[in-house]
Amino acid sequence: MNCKKCKVEVTEEEAKKTDVTFKNGTQHIEARCPHCNSYLKYLAHDHEGNPLEILPFGKYAGRTCMSVACEDYDYAYWYIENGKGRYVKDFEVALQSLGNDIRKSDAYEVKIEE
Ligand SMILES: [Zn+2]
Repeated sequence: MNCKKCKVEVTEEEAKKTDVTFKNGTQHIEARCPHCNSYLKYLAHDHEGNPLEILPFGKYAGRTCMSVACEDYDYAYWYIENGKGRYVKDFEVALQSLGNDIRKSDAYEVKIEE
């Protein structure tokens, strides 16, 4: 990630991290620049308290669920409906932390009614 103020690349290890809890109850780590203390981003957590995993497959391989959900929530909804394993949970956490109600997905509603 990049500090917009210092214009330097900051790794997750270097960043100053603070635990925060959103209104919806999801836990996140707030990352700040170690040089100027500017806000960088939230590092979303899964239910284990681990940062969201990097997707190892698909058209967004190499990206975190959080960044994919940010950019393409249709894909995140699609994955919750069609995918398997821990990434489903990661996408749910990512969408919720972005303020998206996962039940707004038509596909997801169909799944609940079954
Ligand atoms: Zn900075």
